[in-house]
This record gives sequence, structure tokens and C-alpha cells, in this order.
Amino acid sequence: MGLPHLRPMRAVLPLVLLALASCASTEFDRAPLTCDTGFGTVRGFAAEDVEEVGRLVRDLAPRVQEILRPEHAEPVRVVVLDTPADPNAKAFTHEFVREGHLVDRFIVVGSEGRHLRAFLVAHECVHWWADGPWDRLPLALEEGLADLIACQLDPVGREAKLYDLAHVPPAASFEEIEAALRVTRETWAGLTAAERERAYWVGYVVASRLGVDGLRELAEQAALDGVRFVPPERVVDRVGLGRNVQTWNASIHRSPG
Ligand SMILES: [Zn+2]
Repeated sequence: MGLPHLRPMRAVLPLVLLALASCASTEFDRAPLTCDTGFGTVRGFAAEDVEEVGRLVRDLAPRVQEILRPEHAEPVRVVVLDTPADPNAKAFTHEFVREGHLVDRFIVVGSEGRHLRAFLVAHECVHWWADGPWDRLPLALEEGLADLIACQLDPVGREAKLYDLAHVPPAASFEEIEAALRVTRETWAGLTAAERERAYWVGYVVASRLGVDGLRELAEQAALDGVRFVPPERVVDRVGLGRNVQTWNASIHRSPG
């Protein structure tokens, strides 16, 4: 397809876990400009950025919520930065955890990748509102859910995402796929770039085959059974690609850009 400008999207949406220093003021708190979207607040340092992302939230939030049906629909908190902390990241969610509890969080949208902003905002909004039974999804599947919904809502980002996924190297073994299904927010920081890429890839394969409803069923079943996360075996059974790495690879490598 010859879309080099779309290339650097893969593995750019990490969840960032930080310990919150007792009286730290965050980028979200410091940003001087504010836009109230009706679905939460967008802040930033440049009026044009804040207005644009505010518009995107207003447009995308109700559509994300309609698909996800969150239990709480907590108002979103977004800050648009000129220089995000991770220079490779176009958007990510900062989660501040103290003694195992989430004490603060906000979405960061970077100044790079403007043509992907709708996709990035939709993706991060999925993380934001994936509460209730969605908490039972392994992280890779939450990423897959976020990418799948963002693909549905933004055709430009979808094209870029599919291009990136087609260029992830094939998995070497089925164990790699199973390992991706065991990744958690806690283990994410210790993963290599290739393992993170694999987690997004596995998440998208599963999400695109099961759809939002299939993922919801898995999550609700895990909640009924009282298991913390949907077990990898259950995901593999539902996907229907068996334990054959070739079939998994073939499911997404058919149209390299
Ligand atoms: Zn994500």
C-alpha cells in the first residue's frame, strides 16, 4: 500500500504505571487550557490542540460508550502535550497506583501523529470505560478490544493499524501466543518490544474473530466463575484456530501492505 507515514503506530499505546509521589502535580493539573466535552475534560497547552481533541472526544465518546456499555462511565480526563514523556508514544494512559490501588489516571495525547488522533482517542477511551466485567479481560485482549473499536470508528486509523499488524513478524511458537494472553498491567513494563508487539497482535487476532460481543461473553463468564482473568485456554478454544502457530500467523498475514 506504500504508507510509510502510517508505519510507526505499532506498540505506541503503552499503559504507563507510575507511583504517585505524595504531592506531585501532574501534566493534567498543570495544563492551563480546559475544554469541557460533556463526557469529561480535555486540557492542554495549545488552544488548537485542546479544541481538536475536545471535538474528537465529543464525537467519539458516545459511540464508544454505546459499544462498551460501561457501568460507571466516569468522565474522561485527557491532556494534550507538546512533548509526551515517552517520545515514541502518540497516546497513552498514565495510571498512578499506590499500594495496589489506582489513585489517579489521565490520558495523554502527544503532538505527533495528528492524522491518527481520532483512532488514538477512541482507543484510549475504550481503556477508560472498559470497567465492570471488562476488567476480566487479559491486557492483550483489552488492547485488542480497544483497537477493534477504534478501527470501527476511524477508517484512517484502521488502515494504519492493519498495515502495522501485517508487518509484525510471525509468531515462532504457540507458546508465544499463550504468553501474550498472560500479560498483565504488572508484567507489561518487563516485556521486550517484540513481546509487546506480539501482545497487540494476539489481542487484535482474538478481538477481530470474536467481536465485541464474543469478548464480552468471555469477560462475563470469567466474572461469573470468579476468576481474575479469562484463562488463555478458554480464549484459544473460542478463537477456533487451535494450538497451531501457523494458523494463527495465517489469520493476519494474508495482506502485507
Ligand atoms: Zn492501549
